[in-house]
Amino acid sequence: MNTIKFTPIDDMKKETNNVECYEIKEIELSGQKYKYYSNAQMSVYITKKCNASCWFCMNNYEKRFCNSKEIADEDYFKNLERVLDAFKDEKVPITITGGEPTKSKRLIKVMQLLHQKGFKSRTFATNGTGLLDRYEGKMVINYLLDNGIVNNINVSRMVTSDVENEKLMHIKQKNVALQKIFNYGKVNGMDMRLSCNLQKGGVDNLDEILKFIDFYEKRGINTVMFRELIPLQDYQYQKRMVKIEDIFKEIEKNKDFIFLRKMEGMYYTVKVYRYKEKLVKCYLEKRSEALKDVIREFVFYSDGNLDGGWNKENNIVLERR
Ligand code: SF4
Repeated sequence: MNTIKFTPIDDMKKETNNVECYEIKEIELSGQKYKYYSNAQMSVYITKKCNASCWFCMNNYEKRFCNSKEIADEDYFKNLERVLDAFKDEKVPITITGGEPTKSKRLIKVMQLLHQKGFKSRTFATNGTGLLDRYEGKMVINYLLDNGIVNNINVSRMVTSDVENEKLMHIKQKNVALQKIFNYGKVNGMDMRLSCNLQKGGVDNLDEILKFIDFYEKRGINTVMFRELIPLQDYQYQKRMVKIEDIFKEIEKNKDFIFLRKMEGMYYTVKVYRYKEKLVKCYLEKRSEALKDVIREFVFYSDGNLDGGWNKENNIVLERR
């Protein structure tokens, strides 16, 4: 995914995601060998349901997601455990996603299972509305902390205004609640960020990006990621897409961005800049035919099947039992 990530400049010292270091590995699943990228992750869908209704939600366009049927909790956990056991020697990092994971009763048990099996969460994708909800007397965000989910908690937010954000996402997600969540994260050493999808009528140029950064910096939120929408054929969707390369060009011309270095990975070219007290990383995906059989991401759908990537038919690598 093409992205621009702004983090405090001090994060340069603890940066672990170096695209130049990855390689191709192999795993055997149900007697068949698969090649996968050593930086591959496993996305675990907690649920298909979401309390928001974003026009740009990829789930609405992803055939495999749309066709997957939610199975009963007991079957879901049986199959998730089987998948995790299949990866016991190759513990790929996990992205917890959905639908909205914080609104599902399964979440706590999934986190406990991952923790118990020794898996690390790479990203926790949420719209943030359920992080302060209470489950058995404790806030959901407390459970994240208790189960070691402290990195890359990715809270979606499209524009700074509460009213305009509600129009895009159809949820009430107030800035005061976001501040509370991020303050909690900061006090407890959690690594949290806002994630904004670039779109016409929302954040759609460098000036808007910098205003967004500035707005949240003043509220103590200092890591933000901007993402290009996935290029889909749908006409309405395409009409609102912002090309990230246009933003990259604006960055190149802007004297406040000081170029630091360029990294070449298997899947990404990354340009790194300094912008005031921020480290800025611009990720541009490469399209490589030679790597088309290499799995970049495993996906555990809420129908209990594990796929070797997104949105492809007949792509199951470990079938539900
Ligand atoms: S919050 Fe995320 S999962 Fe929910 S509708 Fe929006 S994009 Fe989709």
